[in-house]
This record gives sequence, C-alpha cells and structure tokens, in this order.
Amino acid sequence: MKEIAIIVPVYNEELSIPVFFNEFVKFSNKLQNVHYKANVLFVNDGSTDRTAEVLTEFINQTPNSSALFLSRNFGKEAALFAGLEHAQSDLIIPMDVDLQDPFELIFEMIKAYEQGADVVLAQRSNRASDTFLKRLSAQWFYKLNNKMSALKLQENVGDFRLMTKQVVDEIVQLQENQLFMKGLMSWVGFKTTQITYTRPARLNGKTKFNYLKLWNLAVEGITSFSTLPLKVWTYFGTFVAFVSFLYGLKIIIEKLFFGIAASGYASLMVAILFFGGVQLIGIGVLGEYLGRTYLETKRRPRYIIKNQIQNKENNV
Ligand code: UDP
Ligand code: MG
Repeated sequence: MKEIAIIVPVYNEELSIPVFFNEFVKFSNKLQNVHYKANVLFVNDGSTDRTAEVLTEFINQTPNSSALFLSRNFGKEAALFAGLEHAQSDLIIPMDVDLQDPFELIFEMIKAYEQGADVVLAQRSNRASDTFLKRLSAQWFYKLNNKMSALKLQENVGDFRLMTKQVVDEIVQLQENQLFMKGLMSWVGFKTTQITYTRPARLNGKTKFNYLKLWNLAVEGITSFSTLPLKVWTYFGTFVAFVSFLYGLKIIIEKLFFGIAASGYASLMVAILFFGGVQLIGIGVLGEYLGRTYLETKRRPRYIIKNQIQNKENNV
C-alpha cells in the first residue's frame, strides 16, 4: 500500500489543530478505501501559545501522526523545508492547518498521479477568501515575476500540491538558506498537472502574513530566481549616459556659438535630484542582492529541531 505524508507547518494554531485532526482521521479512513495510507507530519514553528501541548496530546491518540518542534520561529518557508526533509512517504503534500486546503481534493490529486503526474498543483479558481488588496498584489507579483524570471510560476497556486518522493528528494538537495519554497518546488521540474478548487476562508484566527511579510516574500521570490533587476541598470545607465552626452553637446554648442549663458537653478536642481534618486535606487537593488549573498555565505542551518515525537500504528 502506498503512503501519503501530509506536511503541516503550524505557528500559534492551538484552535485549528483539534479540527484538523478530526478531519485528518476522517480522511485517513476514506483513503484506505482507495488503498493508500495517510501520515501527517506537523512542524511546530516555534509557537508561543499552547500549540505544542495540543499537538502532543493529539499525536498521542492518533496513529500515523508525528511532529517536529523547531527551537524558535523560523518562518513558514523553513518549517515547510524541515517537513519535506523528514517526510518518508511515497507521496508528499504540504497543507495549511487552517483547512484552507481541503482534504477532499487529495483524492483528485491521487487520480492525476495515477495517470502519470509527478507533481499535481492545486490552483485556486478564485481568491474570494482573500482581501481585494491581497488579490491585486498577488496578481501583480505573478505578472512581474513571470516577466522577469526564467522560472515561470503558476498563477494562484500555493504550496498545496502533491509531489512524489523523487521530486521532494531533489528539492531538499537545493542548497540555499533563503528559501522561496514555491519557486524551489517548481524549479525542479518533473511532469506537472493541475487541478482547480475554490479556496475556503480561514477556519479561525487571522492570516500570519501581513503585507510587509508578503512584500518580503515577493522580493525573495524575484531575487531568488532573477538577476534582471541588477542587469537592467547597465542598460538604463547606458541610455542615461547617451542622453546626457547629447544634452552636454547642446549646452557646449549653445555656449560657443550663440553665447547663451548657463541655464538656471531649476535645470540644475532637477538634474541633481533626478540622478541622486536614480543612483540610490540602483544602490538599493544592489544591496538587496548583496545582503542575500552575505546571508548565504554564512551557511547557517535553515532551522533547528528541538525535539520530535511520533505515533506509529504498531508502536506501543
Ligand atoms: N506558519 C508557520 N510559520 C509562520 C507563519 C505561518 O508555520 O511563521 C503556518 C501557519 O500556521 C499555517 C500556514 O503556515 O498553517 C499558512 O499560514 P496562513 O494560513 O497564515 O497563511 P495564508 O493561508 O493566509 O497564506
Ligand atoms: Mg491559511
């Protein structure tokens, strides 16, 4: 019988965990009818509420469940990576604990897998459960990213996807510390198909991703897979230098042949401020890449595991 591992990063989710377990047990029973076995692996990402206690209690009473406890909050990307590194099953599916990723969909994913897919993406057919601003910013991000980067990201596809063990084995080989999981998971390639679903609203509590975090994730995504923001300055600089040269020529000709005095304060100010601003933006972009290079060179671990618990079916 093939096994499926569900990977669930959790951060301060004491309220969602009991409901999730309830759904997991139901799902697990149904899955046996189609001859698969379900495991669940939680990654407690340094929660500060009662998540750890609630998790331990439920894992003790639920077969085929286990959890990694990270030493602090490392962020969802690192927590997910930890889960992928520790998953042992034939098929692996990252999921949110807030039931925004419906269990029911996994049956469809399995069908697609049985038809030969290595990766089955779950695309949100609408984002009604997100705010207007989040939808708009997500749309811009995908557009911008797909224009700039050789790696094309599927629009409105989250981390919720089925992957074979072979795919996951390749993902966890990737060396970077600054993780943009969605990018890494598609970078490895393999035969990919897609199913669509309507994403329900969060079970309870609020999203852990505010706009600042989303912005940082977006910058991470673009800088991880594209150097276009760096290269563009070469062309922009060349263009500006060329225009400046023509303008300089004009001033010299005017002065020599027509005796027109230097133009005034306004044009000087505009030129100084414009070039000052442009240079600062250029330095800022450089800084984004340099900062990431700096962090990568430290080779710090992506996460630290404090302890680990598991409940195996035949374990006593
Ligand atoms: N999460 C995590 N570490 C963090 C933030 C979030 O492990 O630092 C988990 C969270 O508990 C949830 C999943 O990542 O299971 C997705 O988070 P959330 O539902 O807030 O994101 P959204 O669905 O709004 O994108
Ligand atoms: Mg969610």
